[in-house]
Amino acid sequence: MKPKKDYQKRSYWLESLGEVIPNPSLKGEQKTDIAIIGGGYTGMSTAYHLKTYDSGVDVTLLEAEICGYGASGRNGGFNMTLFGLTPSFTKFFFGVERGKQARKFMEEAVDYLADFIKTNQIDCDYEASGYLLVATNKAQIKRLEHEIKVAQEMDYKGIEIWDREKLLSEFKTDRYYLGWYEARCGILHPAKWARALKVKAEEVGTKIYEYSPVIEFEKRKAPADGYNFVLKTPEGKLYAKKIVFATNAYSILVPQLYKYQTPAFTRIVMTEPLSEEQMASIGWKNRAGIEDARDFIHYYRLTRDNRIVLGGRDVGVTYGKDLEKDLDEKNFEELKKYLFWVFPQLKGIKFTHQWGGPVSITLDMAPAIVFLGKDKNALFAYGYIGHGVSATFNTGRTLAEILLDKDTDRTRYFFVGRKIIPFPPEPFRYVLSKAIRGYMRLEDKLVYGEKDIK
Ligand SMILES: Cc1cc2nc3c(=O)[nH]c(=O)nc-3n(C[C@H](O)[C@H](O)[C@H](O)COP(=O)(O)OP(=O)(O)OC[C@H]3O[C@@H](n4cnc5c(N)ncnc54)[C@H](O)[C@@H]3O)c2cc1C
Repeated sequence: MKPKKDYQKRSYWLESLGEVIPNPSLKGEQKTDIAIIGGGYTGMSTAYHLKTYDSGVDVTLLEAEICGYGASGRNGGFNMTLFGLTPSFTKFFFGVERGKQARKFMEEAVDYLADFIKTNQIDCDYEASGYLLVATNKAQIKRLEHEIKVAQEMDYKGIEIWDREKLLSEFKTDRYYLGWYEARCGILHPAKWARALKVKAEEVGTKIYEYSPVIEFEKRKAPADGYNFVLKTPEGKLYAKKIVFATNAYSILVPQLYKYQTPAFTRIVMTEPLSEEQMASIGWKNRAGIEDARDFIHYYRLTRDNRIVLGGRDVGVTYGKDLEKDLDEKNFEELKKYLFWVFPQLKGIKFTHQWGGPVSITLDMAPAIVFLGKDKNALFAYGYIGHGVSATFNTGRTLAEILLDKDTDRTRYFFVGRKIIPFPPEPFRYVLSKAIRGYMRLEDKLVYGEKDIK
């Protein structure tokens, strides 16, 4: 078992929460209408929406560590519209009509999250600063131009194209050539948002148990009392009529979920706060979250106290069930060099934190809500890759609607109950993951990367 304060080492965001007083663990036998496994954004949003739609339904959430321990407490904090890998990849796999649905869902997701935070005065350092996807070389310009065309075809709303002149007026770097800007997006403090969502879910009546990993799960055969599932934790047992797996990348540890997704690890470095002079030297007054157009993107943003948080560039893959791949010195060093490639004027700035976390990857790079078994009593939502901050909140709402038999646009979208391409077992899974990563690394090296980075 991990030490109780392990969460503090998992990201700057979690560390900055200070000491979290966890909820008690599940002890003894309990019954509930709907059990949720996993206290990240997906699980907590599902709980919140279930209780908001129907205060009479009994909802219990079990979290292995503290709520927000996983990707939800470690991410870049971009509230962004991207579904899957890129618009063109989504179009290729799912076609134009489904691509339009995905976009509609994500535009709604971003607006819904921003509105929720504002209306409920959630303290999570939210900044409605927009999102900027930039091309930093010729190959990226070509790619971005193509994505813009596909986006227009799929009826994307709210995209501004920023040319070189505009980019030079906004940033003191000559690395940016073309930009895709979306004003509706924003940035937040991911762990503050996670812990605030926990409070919201509890306010409406969800029971939350922390340090309560589900170590065994059993489906009972047509029980007369309607409690179809038994979830075992080290000290307790929870009987539930319906269940939701909101275990994201950790689902690799659950045999019934093994084939659906695989974990990949993305890493982040963070600087000390920039001084006023340093801020003035880089421009970036719009404070938008930025990504580039490589295969393995860089993503970077400012914090409320003007640190730069920069992640991506490579991902870690894993063999078997090893989920301790957060840290990679080579990846961290490359990220640091990249910051100085974009903003050489920051050379000498100190990096104070580095961390990583697991994201959930599907073979078609798109998220899914699947039904486990023939009925709709057991649901699993996963596969947001690196784009789950907004999607999870809207997915939780969708899961609640499905569980309460509501018929909405969301419950009809194609990613609900969709077909999935299963991952093979080991060692083929590892070989496949490495092959995909190898291809993307090579393409970045030869085509999309910064040739002159040193
Ligand atoms: C470094 C990093 C950067 C990212 N940047 C961004 C970004 O800027 N924008 C964006 O949109 N997305 C980003 N993402 C992705 C985003 O964070 C995720 O998609 C999102 O947080 C997923 O939420 P979740 O609730 O589904 O999963 P998680 O937050 O991973 O939650 C799953 C929870 O389940 C718990 N759990 C697992 N097994 C069990 C069990 N057996 N019993 C009980 N509990 C269990 C875990 O402890 C965990 O708390 C990033 C991810 C990472 C790692």
